[in-house]
Amino acid sequence: LTHFKAENEPMFEYLKDSPERKRVQASLARLQSQMTEVPIVVGDQEKRTRDFRFQVKPFEHRNKLAKFYHASADIIQDAIAVSIEAQKEWEVTPLEERAKIFLRAADLVSNKYRADLLAATMLGQGKTVWQAEIDAAAELADFLRMNVQFALEMTRYQPISTTSAKNSMVYRGLEGFVAAVPPFNFTAIGGNLSAAPALMGNVVLWKPSDTAVLSNYIVFKIFQEAGLPPGVINFLPADGPTFGSAVTRSPHLGGINFTGSVSTFQWLWKKVADNLNTYKNFPRIVGEAGGKNFHLIHSSADIPHAVNNTIRSAFEYSGQKCSACSRAYVPDDIWPEFRKQLLEQHSKIKLGSPVEFDTFMSAVIDERSFERVKSYIEHAHNSKELKVIAGGKTDKSKGYFIEPTIVDVTTHAKDKIMKEEIFGPVLSIYVYPANDMEGVVKLVQTTTPFSLTGAIFAKDESVLEMWRRKLRFAAGNLYINDKSTGAVVGQQPFGGARHSGTNDKAGGPHYLLRWTSEQSVKRGL
Ligand code: GLU
Repeated sequence: LTHFKAENEPMFEYLKDSPERKRVQASLARLQSQMTEVPIVVGDQEKRTRDFRFQVKPFEHRNKLAKFYHASADIIQDAIAVSIEAQKEWEVTPLEERAKIFLRAADLVSNKYRADLLAATMLGQGKTVWQAEIDAAAELADFLRMNVQFALEMTRYQPISTTSAKNSMVYRGLEGFVAAVPPFNFTAIGGNLSAAPALMGNVVLWKPSDTAVLSNYIVFKIFQEAGLPPGVINFLPADGPTFGSAVTRSPHLGGINFTGSVSTFQWLWKKVADNLNTYKNFPRIVGEAGGKNFHLIHSSADIPHAVNNTIRSAFEYSGQKCSACSRAYVPDDIWPEFRKQLLEQHSKIKLGSPVEFDTFMSAVIDERSFERVKSYIEHAHNSKELKVIAGGKTDKSKGYFIEPTIVDVTTHAKDKIMKEEIFGPVLSIYVYPANDMEGVVKLVQTTTPFSLTGAIFAKDESVLEMWRRKLRFAAGNLYINDKSTGAVVGQQPFGGARHSGTNDKAGGPHYLLRWTSEQSVKRGL
């Protein structure tokens, strides 16, 4: 294993009548014909509480997909004790042994459970087959394999020894447990937030999102089937504040691995601060907390390419990616042509059920999301300064459907619609004077507190170079003539700074360092 090299998982297109489409259809049929029960799992025990709920399909919200239970504070306390016990053996299990488990899990993702993972992600999270493929198959398998490669490379470093001293480095997990809190929007993130710390020798309490509980549970079961010992990762659907309070109160908190909203992330930091005196260690806090991502277009840009990438970034998965483009800056000299092509492409978007394979985007995740996104669209409708130029209708009678919506904000570049994360299919466009290059860069940089992703489009190389330099701190992931979404594990390690998070790049080599507590050892005689 020592020199293991991971490769990105090849992807299927799920063309009509292909065997892989048939496999996904069979999984879709099976998961729709039953209601799956998802237990809490602590150590080798399944638990059920009276506090049960249902995961519904976002595009048919009267339709229940899974029944699950919320863990109580007592169960979370038990899980902490069980995990600390499991750590004794796990952290002395050689890295290679731990790695083999996650490589087996990656193969189960690629093959045996691929169709189930896709189906659960399509039905539960409302992803189209392609969006599910890049997430629950490719990205998940990639995280599992690449992390193994990175961990092996990283731990190969041993300090310099001399005749008078033999030096070595021991790579252990953190003392304590890691709380993994993923979002609903990527099945792969649930897998990575729990598996990456576990690979490094940590024990984990995984609180899945209520709206992604089924796909996350399948991932958890895959880890079990791959041979992960009981108690190393514990699966704990729970009420957010209950879970957050319980884990941050524990003296054994070793770290938090989070992806979600800024407000929740800030809340967790405050909880940690409130409990600082109780901890054995300073908890490691790693988080990705959203964005307000830009596409900045230059007059020299390839217009069809920039339009297509903007549509994809803003509206694939209904804009429910931290990386989605939600503000675009287009120069006035190409705006008429850009607008024409944008509206043309917009009119071709098929909004519908993800179970139909030609759907482009589906419903947003739940009622709370629906109402939030709708309130921004209403704000645009009601504001004198903003103009809705495409879409703008919403309908939650059957599913939480929101039309892909485009808003012209030209008379109000700093409207809240350009500042705040909406996390839905709303793209705002500011048309800037083509000769005011300084002004537009300043707007891109100063309009929001976020810094997750951004994309610049130009054919003029000197413009690209200048923007690249000036936007150094405006995006953790910068794309040149490419859309701001779709980071590939190992190719574009992903994360942002400022209010977007701690910029620990998931899918990159340094991420694993956050989950080890190294011991430097000198031997004299
Ligand atoms: N890594 C994903 C992308 O590049 C986004 C992850 C997220 O939404 O948190 O599109």
